[in-house]
Amino acid sequence: MDAPEIYQGHEIVRQEQNSKKKLAHEKGEGAPCLKCGPACEGLDLHFWRKICRLCHCKYEDHDVKDEDEMHHDIVLNLLKNRRPCTENANKPQVDLKSEPVIGEDVKANFIQVPECSSSAAMAKYLDSVPEDKAGHKGEAGQQYRSQQLSNQLPVHDFDDSYCDKLSDQERELMRAFNDKRDAEAAGQGNIKEKTEKELSSWVCEKCNENLYSGEVAVFAERAGKDKCWHPKCFVCDTCTELLVDLIYFFKDGKIHCGRHYGELTRVRCAACDELIFTKEYTQADGRDWHIKHFCCINCDTALAGKKYVSKEEKPYCMDCYDQLFAKCCQFCKIKIAADGKRVNYKDKHWHATDECFGCVNESCKKTMLGQQFIYKDGNVFCSPPCARKHLNK
Ligand SMILES: [Zn+2]
Ligand SMILES: [Zn+2]
Ligand SMILES: [Zn+2]
Ligand SMILES: [Zn+2]
Ligand SMILES: [Zn+2]
Ligand SMILES: [Zn+2]
Ligand SMILES: [Zn+2]
Ligand SMILES: [Zn+2]
Repeated sequence: MDAPEIYQGHEIVRQEQNSKKKLAHEKGEGAPCLKCGPACEGLDLHFWRKICRLCHCKYEDHDVKDEDEMHHDIVLNLLKNRRPCTENANKPQVDLKSEPVIGEDVKANFIQVPECSSSAAMAKYLDSVPEDKAGHKGEAGQQYRSQQLSNQLPVHDFDDSYCDKLSDQERELMRAFNDKRDAEAAGQGNIKEKTEKELSSWVCEKCNENLYSGEVAVFAERAGKDKCWHPKCFVCDTCTELLVDLIYFFKDGKIHCGRHYGELTRVRCAACDELIFTKEYTQADGRDWHIKHFCCINCDTALAGKKYVSKEEKPYCMDCYDQLFAKCCQFCKIKIAADGKRVNYKDKHWHATDECFGCVNESCKKTMLGQQFIYKDGNVFCSPPCARKHLNK
């Protein structure tokens, strides 16, 4: 009779269930920033921006440990739901031998191990992708790979529970988009080695070079049964990165990563990084934004229809900009408002008034607005005599 132990067991199960799905803004809390190092105290995720509130770097720039696990679920679901494309539905996909090819060492390199014609072919494949890039070996490679997982397969493109408060209509549109993508475009490449017996010629879709017997190629069934790529050529048509774990999305004759497939038909919000499913959105700074997300990066005030300043591709409201960056007038030492008229010369700034941008010589004070002037040690003068008088004082 040990009732407490049963309760304990119950507790543990509940905790595991809870930790499975974290709230979006709790993801990776405290993870160190790979770009900023100690300057960032650890990821503090903004509730919809998906950037760190402390250092403003992206979520994936932080060394988030549970990221792989999250992607694991999403990608497995994706591949499970994928319907075979109709063209090949009745034919065997690739004439794969039944030889077992998956050792634990190989498994560790993939979320979902691609189909492969032999263990020798798998070994050749792993050897033919760059160590530091494809992430099949070594620490640098693994880090690159997990970054590419979040980059190429953004969780919020696949699972609406990671999106910021979608309306019912947005959710419906997103589901329709996802269903179409998963049913018509998503796939994982197969690895196949060209043997002596293989008489048809294999030509790489990317570089148009022939593949010879003994070489391995990646086949993508969505593109057609005979379409293949060199392992190093199996890249996203937009970002040209190697497709992580050979997961591709096929559209109009090209292969893409998940992120860039999405952007072929939808625009992406520059703030929250989600695809936009609302009817209306706003364009600013050459980028697209949810109207509700076009906000000051510093205080989150909505900026749609308001004045704002863009600095390093980030929008600021006028107040925050003044507070954080406004330059002082060289003459009166008072801050120049972001929308205030100013004169810039070298790295100095003045209010564009007769008072502030005038000959510094007390007895002259002539306005230099629109005039030729002499610049000396941060001062402006109308003429050499004025400059001389002032400097000899
Ligand atoms: Zn950072
Ligand atoms: Zn940070
Ligand atoms: Zn090629
Ligand atoms: Zn891409
Ligand atoms: Zn947004
Ligand atoms: Zn602000
Ligand atoms: Zn001034
Ligand atoms: Zn003067």
